[in-house]
Amino acid sequence: MSVDVAHRDGLSRGHTACHLASLALDLALADLWRKDPGQDAIGNPDFEGRANQSSRIREDGAVDEYRLGKSLRRAGFDTETFAATLAEREERINAQLAAWIATGASSRIETEGPTIVDRRRWHCELPEAEAVILCGGTHVTSLADFSSISVSLDLSDPQLLVMTTTASAAV
Ligand SMILES: [Zn+2]
Repeated sequence: MSVDVAHRDGLSRGHTACHLASLALDLALADLWRKDPGQDAIGNPDFEGRANQSSRIREDGAVDEYRLGKSLRRAGFDTETFAATLAEREERINAQLAAWIATGASSRIETEGPTIVDRRRWHCELPEAEAVILCGGTHVTSLADFSSISVSLDLSDPQLLVMTTTASAAV
């Protein structure tokens, strides 16, 4: 039996980058909430938890879709200001991701028990707080495994934000 190590490593980077990008997205959108939507894994307003409708992991990246409809507006999110400042938000996310990679923080999975049904949580020691997210996927062991992670935000459909995350491995 042979394990495709390159494929698995690519998915580990894609998965880890997806978590980091969604945390950076929450942080970059934090000032757009008029009401408290609840907190994400590092204590910022949880845009991800409120709006994410799908997340697809691939090698060295991910594509996330967020629903920006009436219910999000009713929950207190300022969709108009977001749309008007999209490019600036994207820059903030990318600057945050670069800063997080530069810390070389550790990234690991903790499991409650030895069987397949035991809950697994991804832990990452970011400077703001230790992020802990329920997740069964495979991940890198350190943010030093990345040379970069960047996102692009697409709002061509004003009701649907598409965030495409692209990671590359450290050489
Ligand atoms: Zn994960």
